[in-house]
Amino acid sequence: MYDVIVVGGGVAGLFLAANLPDRKVLILDHAKSVGKKLLITGGGRANITNDLSAKEMLAHFPTKAMRNFLAPSLLSLTPSDLMNWFENRGVELIVRADGHVFPSSLDARTIRDALLSHIHADIRTACTVAAIINEEESFTIHSSEGSFVTRSVCLATGGMSYPSTGSDGSGYALAKALGHTIVPPKPALTPIVTCEQTAHLSGISLSNVSITHRQSTATGDLLFTRDGLSRPVILNLSRAVSKGDPVTIAVLDSSLLEENLLSFPQKRVSTIIRTLGVPASLAREICERSHLESDRNAGTLRKEERKLLCKTAGALTYKVNTTKGFKQAMATSGGVELSEVNRKTMESRLTPGLFFCGEVLDYDGESGGFNIQAACSTAYLAARTIGKRKNKKSIA
Ligand SMILES: Cc1cc2nc3c(=O)[nH]c(=O)nc-3n(C[C@H](O)[C@H](O)[C@H](O)COP(=O)(O)OP(=O)(O)OC[C@H]3O[C@@H](n4cnc5c(N)ncnc54)[C@H](O)[C@@H]3O)c2cc1C
Repeated sequence: MYDVIVVGGGVAGLFLAANLPDRKVLILDHAKSVGKKLLITGGGRANITNDLSAKEMLAHFPTKAMRNFLAPSLLSLTPSDLMNWFENRGVELIVRADGHVFPSSLDARTIRDALLSHIHADIRTACTVAAIINEEESFTIHSSEGSFVTRSVCLATGGMSYPSTGSDGSGYALAKALGHTIVPPKPALTPIVTCEQTAHLSGISLSNVSITHRQSTATGDLLFTRDGLSRPVILNLSRAVSKGDPVTIAVLDSSLLEENLLSFPQKRVSTIIRTLGVPASLAREICERSHLESDRNAGTLRKEERKLLCKTAGALTYKVNTTKGFKQAMATSGGVELSEVNRKTMESRLTPGLFFCGEVLDYDGESGGFNIQAACSTAYLAARTIGKRKNKKSIA
């Protein structure tokens, strides 16, 4: 009999197992190897957390329900605790100026290997879980690799994004069969496809630019892609967009542009915009949208033309056509309903002995290390509870 069977060997499942060194643990994963998604995080470098306090980190989760749910786990394993965890196990870390934390090797394999070398669990990969049977004192798990009996089960099956890594949403059916409600999954942290053409701007990036969507404004880095917009400031708002929504980019400060147009009447409009740091093709786009030829001299603009140009540069608007969907999303919004899980233990309120950790739960954080931190913090809390268990139902 196992103390716990962890379904899903992503970062949450591995972190859980690494924190139960004295327990009999089995990890089952239907992918060919564990930690596949971890290896592609942060562009293959693994941005494992952000150098913030637990309280500051909570602000990077979009709803009050998520913040409320995650508070106990982020307080039991704070960002600095997670950094210490890895550093105490020989992983050197670096903290970038923006607070993003990576292994100094800039190689996600360092994180996966550190986890694996601290796990004393049995691991079965390419193993499909067919059913989890809830019995009086145990669970029986029927899988393609045979049946296993365990005192507790933890579903750490992740979300639905990048299904090629193994996170294909099949874990939701296992949770549902054990009585849980699944909040419909939606892609989060995904690039946006715009109604307007952007191919001619593809590759242009803007740093620290302000974006407005509905009533909220956020600042960050943006990239024009062949069919829309990407990079953190766009990824972070993607969970909330609907078809037809306007997304407005403050390419330039309108009053600064107006000041320059008035100060340099002999200069071409496009040159003035470029002097303010805007690439040529984007400067042309701003002029075209303002119905102006870009080779006009600033001094020839009528007042209404100048005002329209400044307004366009200060609020270049694109309409959302769609998002890139689960294939390119970095996170999933939706999952196991949070109110059905005890936030202090990660145990199901409906099925004693059943635990959850990681992205299978209905939370999704912003881009910047928040999702791996939440996966590890929820896993840590589950490990702490399971570690104290003597039998399925009670902490003896
Ligand atoms: C491209 C990309 C880049 C990212 N970069 C970052 C980053 O830099 N920083 C950050 O904080 N977050 C990042 N994220 C998000 C982060 O990777 C996830 O939030 C995190 O991996 C979730 O961990 P998890 O263990 O809950 O789920 P996963 O890592 O998705 O692991 C789930 C595991 O469960 C297995 N599984 C699923 N269903 C079953 C089943 N039915 N039976 C058996 N096994 C099953 C899967 O094969 C998988 O191994 C990124 C995501 C992507 C896609």
